[in-house]
Amino acid sequence: MSGAAPRHLRKLGLLGGMSWESTTLYYQWLNRLARERLGGQHSARLVIWSDDFGPIAAAQAAGDWDALGRLLATAARELEAAGAEAILIGANTMHKLAPQVSGAVGVPVVHVADATARALRAAGVRRPLLLATRFTMEGDFYRGRLAELGVEASIPSADERTALHAIIYDELIQGRFEAASRAVVVAMTERAAAEGADGVIFGCTEIGLLVAPDDVSLPVFETTEIHARAAMAFAFGD
Ligand code: GLU
Repeated sequence: MSGAAPRHLRKLGLLGGMSWESTTLYYQWLNRLARERLGGQHSARLVIWSDDFGPIAAAQAAGDWDALGRLLATAARELEAAGAEAILIGANTMHKLAPQVSGAVGVPVVHVADATARALRAAGVRRPLLLATRFTMEGDFYRGRLAELGVEASIPSADERTALHAIIYDELIQGRFEAASRAVVVAMTERAAAEGADGVIFGCTEIGLLVAPDDVSLPVFETTEIHARAAMAFAFGD
């Protein structure tokens, strides 16, 4: 053998399956970033937990967040027991349960809103539109966290939020990507741009499967990529 010993990569634990459409993107991003950095045959070191999203979505709709908190806490402990050195919750919405996950493990949780706030600030964006599920847009756990980090995110109107939530759960999570729905999301983004938004957060990990950055006039902050980059920075020990 010649050459330097491979750099140690920390092992990441991904709470996936929320939905698996976006877990696929996480898997691609994490491995692509390992290859970009280390080259050759390198790839990310991962353990992935993935459950049936049907009952999870039903519990979300029923407001049974306590049961979901217990589920994710147990899953995070399993990832830690399998050697994960940090946990990623592979969905923006389920960061509502980040405190329960953090409290269950001794390793850090790489928070998607923290990583997104850093990316927004680095780009000089302070008044972005947040596109996400109703849980994420209307709760405090996400916008409050952004606000603590100096970013005041706006959200679409009540009708637009209802439409976007339905697009996410009835289409994207089910692998359906419709031109008419893309037009709906583009229209709400352009309306926000006209009202002064200076960027748009794709704050649901499936939105990037429907809308491309070139489809809208605002700078796009795609949380799946941003979250994966933050996790790999941890894995590299940056
Ligand atoms: N993946 C989505 C998100 O990033 C929604 C699915 C879920 O509710 O977990 O929020």
